[in-house]
Formats: sequence, structure tokens, C-alpha cells
Amino acid sequence: KKKVFSGAQPSGMLTIGNYIGAIKNFVALQDEYDATYCIVNQHAITVPQDPEELKMRTRGLAALYVACGVDPNKSTIFVQSEVPAHAQAAWIVQCNTYIGELERMTQYKDKSAKQDAVSAGLLTYPPLMVADIILYDADLVPVGEDQKQHLELTRDFVQRFNNRYHADLVMPEPLIPKAGGRIMSLQDPTKKMSKSDTNQKGFISMLDEPKQIRKKIKSAKTDSSGVIEFDQENKPGISNLLTIFANFSGKSIPQLEEEFADSGYGDFKERLADAVIAVLEPIQERYYKLMASEELDYILDQGAKRANDYANGTLKRMENAIGLNR
Ligand code: ATP
Ligand code: MG
Repeated sequence: KKKVFSGAQPSGMLTIGNYIGAIKNFVALQDEYDATYCIVNQHAITVPQDPEELKMRTRGLAALYVACGVDPNKSTIFVQSEVPAHAQAAWIVQCNTYIGELERMTQYKDKSAKQDAVSAGLLTYPPLMVADIILYDADLVPVGEDQKQHLELTRDFVQRFNNRYHADLVMPEPLIPKAGGRIMSLQDPTKKMSKSDTNQKGFISMLDEPKQIRKKIKSAKTDSSGVIEFDQENKPGISNLLTIFANFSGKSIPQLEEEFADSGYGDFKERLADAVIAVLEPIQERYYKLMASEELDYILDQGAKRANDYANGTLKRMENAIGLNR
């Protein structure tokens, strides 16, 4: 069976951008692939986090994976910091990656610009991500568009490492949704939607209540033309809402354009809110049940066991290849 690996950071509650760009594919791939999904809490601490909140969000993110349809009987779900091989492999990756490569990463440039003091970890975040992926011999990595550059770095690393040390790391490929790989902020449709956005109105969290969802969609930035059509360049706001609508309704964008040809933005937004709420309500119900149960810890304990077994094997292969042995 081919292998899939991916993860999300407990840096906030998942947004519908994360759901459309990544989590939907986590679910879709688990039947055909040997799937491993991680809560990457070590990535989250590259920027300041409140310890209590980080801890709660870590559990919350695990529950949300399952509530969204990741099946612990099919997929391995685990917390990154519970598998020490990630940090160990990341060191080896760092020693075979160049500072220049890391300084070119747009995520580094974006995120460091928002910090008063930039941690070294923010720069070396991609090598940790490389480690995450290669430890599980992943063939496929479902991610949003913004992670494409990090996947390219991963591929460059794998090629370099295999050549240099005659190693056998697996070459991974990204899987990015064609429509929905980059959901934009509701308040600024030129910026990607992010769960760590300080402006809560910019994103819809997977746990937002129906009333909040309606309000946020109502106040989403559009334009003054009043025509519902997909035009990324001139109508980024409506185009973004159409992309979200398509992903939550299963209808295509042309289908939606036709359906709403005679409608105004107000009506369109109401119906979009209906579609989003219809998908999120049952997910939220499952989420709150899981958070109150002991099942979640069982799932994560089992997941950590399985992940440690696998990752330690790959780490050994890497160490042997480079001479970190006797
Ligand atoms: P942060 O702002 O803390 O980085 P984030 O919203 O970018 O949060 P991540 O945990 O970094 O979330 O990413 C989880 C997954 O969601 C990744 O695969 C990422 O590519 C994807 N993703 C993030 N934002 C979007 C978006 N706006 N549209 C589609 N996919 C996204
Ligand atoms: Mg991100």
C-alpha cells in the first residue's frame, strides 16, 4: 500500500480553509492509502503559545480530525511531541539543508515579519516538516497551496540525501486541491485564510456557532458589481465565496453561477451560510462528544505507539546511512 502523511498545527482552531485544503483529503485518502495524520505541536511553538491553550488545542485538534471523518481504525493519529524521532531526524535534515534555502521560504518571510522577535525555530520549521514526511516513507502529502514550497524543499532534500549517502528515503509528492488549495480571508481576499489570524472575522472556525458563521459570511468582503461570477482577479471576494460554496455543496462553480444568476449578494451569502452550517453542525456534535469521552486518549496512545515503531525504523536507516552508529 502507498503511504500518506500530513498534519496541522494546534496554533488555533481549524478553519474551513484547513478543512477544504487538507482535512477533506485526509479523509478521502485513508481507504486507499496507509495514512498517518499528525497534530504537529512542535511546529506550533515556532511562534509564542500559551502552554495551557496549546495543550487544550492539541486534544481539540485530534478530536476534530476524528469528527471530520478521519477514522482511527484506518489511519494513525498521533501527537508529534510524543514521537521523539521527529526532532531527532529534523537535526539530521537541518545539517543537510542550507540557510539560504530556508531564508527563501515565503512562509518564513510572512511569519517572521509578524513577530517582534523571530525564533530560530521559525527558520528551521521546514526541516522539521521534512522529517515528519520522510519518517513515514510518505508517497503523498495532502496539503494546501501554501505548503507547496515546503514540499519542494522536501523533495530537494530527499534527492540530495539519497545521492550523498546512498540512502533510500521515499520521494514524496504534494496533493493540493485544484479548487480550494488556497481559501482566502473573508476580510481580505488577497490574503490566505489562517487559523492564527488575529482578526476573527477573517476566518470561519470549524467550531463557530451557526449564528457566528452567518454573521461572518454576511460581513465578508465582496465588491460593488453585484454579479455572482468567478473572476479571481477582479472579484477575489466573490470568487473565494464561490470556491467555499462549491466545496461545501458538492456543486461546481459554473453550476452555482447559473443557480445564482438572478440573485444578489445578500441572498447568495444566506444560502452559502446554510451550506456551511449543514456540514459543520454534525462535525461539531461529534467533536463535543469525543472531547467528553476517554476514547480520544486511547486513540492518541495507540497512534503514538504505532508512529514510534515506524518512525524509529526510518530514523535508524538515516543514522546508519550517515554514520551515526558504531
Ligand atoms: P497558521 O496560521 O498557524 O500557520 P494555518 O491556518 O496556516 O495556521 P496550518 O496548521 O499551518 O494552518 O496548516 C494545516 C493545513 O491546512 C496545511 O496543509 C495547509 O496547507 C492548509 N491550509 C492552511 N491555510 C489554508 C487555506 N487558506 N486554504 C487551503 N488550505 C490551507
Ligand atoms: Mg500555516
